[in-house]
Amino acid sequence: MNLGIGGKWALVCAASKGLGKGCAAALVKEGVNVVVTARGAEALEATAAELRALGSAEVRAVAGDITTAEGRAAALAACPQVDILVNNAGGPPPGDFRDWDREAWIKALDANMLTPIELIRSTVDAMAARGYGRVVNITSGAVKAPIDVLGLSNGARSGLTGFIAGLARSAIAARGVTINGLLPGAFDTDRLRVTFAAGAKKSGRDLESVVNARRVGIPAQRFGSIEEFGAVCAFMCSLQAGYLTGQNVLLDGGAYPGAY
Ligand code: NAP
Repeated sequence: MNLGIGGKWALVCAASKGLGKGCAAALVKEGVNVVVTARGAEALEATAAELRALGSAEVRAVAGDITTAEGRAAALAACPQVDILVNNAGGPPPGDFRDWDREAWIKALDANMLTPIELIRSTVDAMAARGYGRVVNITSGAVKAPIDVLGLSNGARSGLTGFIAGLARSAIAARGVTINGLLPGAFDTDRLRVTFAAGAKKSGRDLESVVNARRVGIPAQRFGSIEEFGAVCAFMCSLQAGYLTGQNVLLDGGAYPGAY
């Protein structure tokens, strides 16, 4: 299927590794020019080189913290026009809500709610004026099925999801702009590996049994790949997906047990 987005420009945030990288790669394969960001310049440059090797699309790498005003300004400045915005950033740490003070909450809200909103604010009206725009917010399966130790993530991402539900259905919907959430279940990334290692350490169990316990709880009996994640993201950015907006697309190998 030709997704019809070759030549467009995408800003893919937090994309030197993991899910963001998977999204950037899938878009580049469709001929989309991309600006990719991450804090660590070395890994980002290596990823940019990999992306350039995938096709003829232009790939620009901007090192910086996307949760800061400076990081966002630099990323936006590098993108001639943002037709596609993939919002992503590191997730907040797990813990007990009794230990989270106001500062911890503000940090989580900044990263996982206010940063995507700021980037949407900077780009969405120009998308509407051009008659095409796609925003994909990488959130988490925890938006639909909250996980107790990930309270900072549950709270911040739910705030974003509620806000988007209104914005996606505003006047921009009639002007070619769609905004959707893409909700990862368990994907084989550094983030997941770090979570497993912390879980093993805390429980005193060996790493393999922690990984297996999680794996067998997923109907697909495996973790997702970043390529699978990127492919769905690219489709959500396609011309064919123009009628898909205000939705939260769960990609979790069947782990969420509900019918709706
Ligand atoms: P990952 O493999 O650790 O990759 C995170 C990427 O984001 C890296 O490129 C990292 O590079 C970049 N990054 C992190 N914080 C950033 C910041 N402030 N500014 C710019 N770049 C930043 O993580 P992932 O698994 O792809 O997860 C991506 C998001 O999905 C996270 O919010 C995570 O909580 C969420 N999620 C993941 C899963 C899963 O199974 N993997 C499940 C549910 C939700 P630098 O460190 O160099 O900045």
